Amino acid sequence: MATELPPLTPGTLYLVATPIGNLEDITLRALRVLRGADVIAAEDTRHTGNLLRHFSIHKPLISYFKFNERRRGEEILDRLQRGQIVALVTDAGTPGISDPGQRVVASAVRAGLRVEAIPGACALVAALTASGLPTDEFHFAGFLPVKSGQRSRRLAELTQLPGTIVLYESPYRVEKLLIELTTLVPDRRLVLARELTKKFEELLRGHPADVMAEWNRKPRKGEFVVLIGPPSDAPSSSEKPDHRPLTTDH
Ligand code: SAM
Repeated sequence: MATELPPLTPGTLYLVATPIGNLEDITLRALRVLRGADVIAAEDTRHTGNLLRHFSIHKPLISYFKFNERRRGEEILDRLQRGQIVALVTDAGTPGISDPGQRVVASAVRAGLRVEAIPGACALVAALTASGLPTDEFHFAGFLPVKSGQRSRRLAELTQLPGTIVLYESPYRVEKLLIELTTLVPDRRLVLARELTKKFEELLRGHPADVMAEWNRKPRKGEFVVLIGPPSDAPSSSEKPDHRPLTTDH
């Protein structure tokens, strides 16, 4: 006997996680919400249009991205107030995590509207859980500032924190970050998680100098999450340095 699934709730903003590379990483609930929504608000309507076509979903799309967040947010609120079901997606992963979403969620909550998360892929969680670094305490800081002064101040602050540090980094700046970490935290464990869930997925694990040497041997392209092990995990200056060799998973 087929189990009746509960209907979607009118007037709800659904935050729908989408794959970060591998199209199999979309949940059954995400597909049901996308099929049942009155409108899908997408960071990039062309990109999401391709995803929807892949799953044979045909729904009206509106754009919602960094530079129209305020105006489009008002429209989304108005739709929710009229009882519509709005699904919000970004180009990849979980909306609101270094992606648009936070502002409209905050406005919806302020207006007493219903918000529901449809969890799924998120590069931060995939990288952290596969890293081998402690997961009991971690600090996610998204992207570092681009400007040198702000960037080094932020890095210095973050590396004082207990727990694993998780950063997103643009492919154009990841080499710069490796160089910075080689000087700043030479004894800490570092993990570079690249192209997660995709064909060329790879995790490089070692001390910053080891990862840097491997990078110099073969510079990488793609999308990266950078993880720095906690200070408590690094050998103190009185201990012998930990010479765990670089490991890679492909
Ligand atoms: N909302 C997304 C999430 O839930 O992970 C993150 C969006 S943010 C604009 C994009 C950044 O996430 C990339 O620059 C990279 O740091 C990280 N990222 C996204 N997909 C990735 C992947 N497949 N492998 C490694 N990092 C990824």
